[in-house]
Amino acid sequence: MDSKANPQAQCHCQAYGDLLLNIESIEKRMLEFKDMRRHLKQIAQKVVEPGWEHYRLYKCEICGQLWQGCLSTIIDDGWYLFRIPSTTQKAWKEDPFVCPDTIVGYISDRNEYLSQEFQYKKEKCKTNGCSKLAIVGSVHCEFHLFESLSKAGGVRKQPKGRWFGPYSEQAIYP
Ligand SMILES: [Zn+2]
Ligand SMILES: [Zn+2]
Repeated sequence: MDSKANPQAQCHCQAYGDLLLNIESIEKRMLEFKDMRRHLKQIAQKVVEPGWEHYRLYKCEICGQLWQGCLSTIIDDGWYLFRIPSTTQKAWKEDPFVCPDTIVGYISDRNEYLSQEFQYKKEKCKTNGCSKLAIVGSVHCEFHLFESLSKAGGVRKQPKGRWFGPYSEQAIYP
């Protein structure tokens, strides 16, 4: 393809690095969305919950790089894009990649939760492999209580989707 013939047909992928796990980089990327999208082609989407859990798959037709679009859940509902590893459309639709803003939101909500003062019982947390003491009012330590509340929908849900470099599930563990 002659990229000079059509200014839209230029690869801008290298201009955008991996998102850092902080609200500023998500916010910046949201502002860049319109410009980034002009150089990419949407090839699939998955809507789990309209306006909330909605994913789009984009491809750069020049270099083949895949990008995932997510609706931010931590700043107003705006789209942003981030680079993802190569995958098939089928595999992607079954299991989209984890959206970095959900990692940021989860960690920030949990840190706020963990900043409370807890009182401890003599028994250990009942979660396998955890050596912390359970807190008063729960069979879990404060961390695992937050995790179970999260699964039950009482607090922010854990990030969903396939983990991929540069992000690691370890990011959400203290
Ligand atoms: Zn490209
Ligand atoms: Zn625990």
